[in-house]
Amino acid sequence: MNHKLSLALAAALAAATPGLVLAQAEQAADSAVEPVSGNPFFVVSNLPYQAPRFDLIKDEHYQPALERGMAEQRAEVAAIANNPDAPSFVNTIVAMEKTGALLNRAGAVFGNLAGAHTNPEIQKVQATLAPKFAAHQDAIVLDGKLFARIKSLYDQRDSLGLDDESKRLLERYHTDFIRAGANLSDADKETLKAMNSELASLATTFSQNVLKEVNDSAVLVDDVALLDGLSDQAITAAAASAKEAGHEGKYLIALQNTSGQPPLTSLTNRDLRKKIMAASLVRGTRGNEWDNTGIVARVATLRAERAKLLGYDTHAQYVLEDETAGTVAAVNKLMSDLAPAAVANARREAAEMQAIIDAEGGDFQLEAADWAFYADKVRQQKYAFDEAQLKPYFEINNVLEKGVFYAASQLYGLSFKERKDIPVYHPDVRVWEVFEADGSKLGLFYGDFYARPSKRGGAWMNAYVPQNGLTGTQPVVANHQNIPKPADGQPTLMSFDEVTTMFHEFGHALHGLFSDVEYPQFAGTSVPRDFVEYPSQVNEMWATWPSILANYAKHHETGEPIPQELLDKVLAAEQYGQGHATTEYLAAAMLDQAIHQQTAGNVATDTLAFEAKALDAAGLDYAPVPPRYRSAYFSHIMGGYSAGYYAYLWSEVLDAESVEWFKENGGLSRENGDHFRKTLLSRGGSADAMQIFRDFRGRDPEVGPLLKRRGLEAKPDAE
Ligand SMILES: [Zn+2]
Repeated sequence: MNHKLSLALAAALAAATPGLVLAQAEQAADSAVEPVSGNPFFVVSNLPYQAPRFDLIKDEHYQPALERGMAEQRAEVAAIANNPDAPSFVNTIVAMEKTGALLNRAGAVFGNLAGAHTNPEIQKVQATLAPKFAAHQDAIVLDGKLFARIKSLYDQRDSLGLDDESKRLLERYHTDFIRAGANLSDADKETLKAMNSELASLATTFSQNVLKEVNDSAVLVDDVALLDGLSDQAITAAAASAKEAGHEGKYLIALQNTSGQPPLTSLTNRDLRKKIMAASLVRGTRGNEWDNTGIVARVATLRAERAKLLGYDTHAQYVLEDETAGTVAAVNKLMSDLAPAAVANARREAAEMQAIIDAEGGDFQLEAADWAFYADKVRQQKYAFDEAQLKPYFEINNVLEKGVFYAASQLYGLSFKERKDIPVYHPDVRVWEVFEADGSKLGLFYGDFYARPSKRGGAWMNAYVPQNGLTGTQPVVANHQNIPKPADGQPTLMSFDEVTTMFHEFGHALHGLFSDVEYPQFAGTSVPRDFVEYPSQVNEMWATWPSILANYAKHHETGEPIPQELLDKVLAAEQYGQGHATTEYLAAAMLDQAIHQQTAGNVATDTLAFEAKALDAAGLDYAPVPPRYRSAYFSHIMGGYSAGYYAYLWSEVLDAESVEWFKENGGLSRENGDHFRKTLLSRGGSADAMQIFRDFRGRDPEVGPLLKRRGLEAKPDAE
């Protein structure tokens, strides 16, 4: 195995299209005017940090604000393109960065609420505007006059006296315009526009179908006896969900978006486990109105044709050229190097579980539906604890304030003050103001942690207001999770996984909060996709750092610290299950690549057959470990992560290296935190991603620490 990845192949830059990550509103001349009536998006918010006016924003405000925002930006861009003065960096590139204030303001709120708290009205606006928005972007990047100005500046970029960040911005515009089709003939531009418009509509339909399917696929249970193994809390929640869905007296097991489902860990009834697993895996392929298989094929076809039009063999090649990975070959190599060892590990884990099944006299072969249940048994045997023992030590406020925030205070000197006066869009959302060590203001942080039917699956971070050096705007960022909400009066006790996720998402939040760049194009998380997960993954390390853990992992009733013995087991158990985790991830990442490495004219129309064939060809068709996402509910690849799901692993190479760096340098300290902040977190996409890594680490990355972490060092077993 190659222990050194050529990660530095490409100087990949932010994937955002110019015209998207554009300047935030400049301080309006009269921003103190209260938007009592009218559309709250039409003026800059007068709240601290220009926080969104969730107290005033109503669903009917989105469409007019977004449409007017597009019109305003189009006029601003036309003025730049038609400027009679010769092009200069300021009158063209900086001017572009300042366009679209209203669109950005409204788009940042709408884009996030469509995921965090949607409803039929928002979905309708989404469906209506998706193709219009795609056309809007195209109108900018395919504007010949504008591109001529950018190109003339680009051609003389070395003699313009630009600083590094400005020069990089100019190069970024030039690259983005070309990648978006600026060099195409007029006829081809029209073809491209039609493709982009259709793709935008398909992506919207896909994500709406996924949400409807996951809700519709919840499993209804008549008899509480079948729920044996679930906690009282989970049973109460299932009863409440059933009641809400009009099935009072029954129990509804909600699904989450991954193939695996949390209740499978503890449900003792095998038939019910199988029913839940089957319901999960079949989502989006049931032939009903929310079937996504046709959409997957059509999207793959359009992307392959668009890549061809732009001069690429495949969509994957087009995407990867602009990432740190650089090439299809580099990504395929990373995955194919790891796949055999990962599957061999998974098979070893399965053999341990099968031994338990056999010893218990269970006359069956381990299936996907059994994996979590028996993995938990192995975990209990080997490490003698279960999730239920752990949860009382992970009460949400302890984890957040005494864990996540505490780590940030130890590393970066930050402090947090809850702001109940800042309006929110749902009563569960909380807001904190973030301060530097010297007491100066840094930004706002929103936490939206609970699951609800109006929220999409998974966890994510977003910026309502990105940091912007041109305007002096400070960041407003948010984290989202899907932690089941307990019944009224019950504490929120988190799983260890949810705890880790909270640290992870806050790593993204820090990337946004610490952003210190001149141009909004480069703010915060505006970095290559295969780099963006890296700072957030690094932040996970503090979840189990002894002094942090000791500070937050306290019993919610007694205040007792988590027993050292249990703690040691948790840390040891962290290593357990890597075979399954790596295999299910690689299977999904490989599916994403397979779908997007098809060439125009050769795209499979039968999505399910293609999926089976691709898994088989990659040696990842191991039925007890289905892909983490199957094609029909793989939201990442319809949105921003197409041909990019591998990015988590790529980022993890950098992450594992960085964790090593912290350990080598004494771990948790202000000095180490400040070094990470200064060399990496503050710079967003303002420099080459791999150069930023080198500035932090002092050398190129090596893959060794990742292999060690995932237990992939051993030679794979012969099968
Ligand atoms: Zn992330």
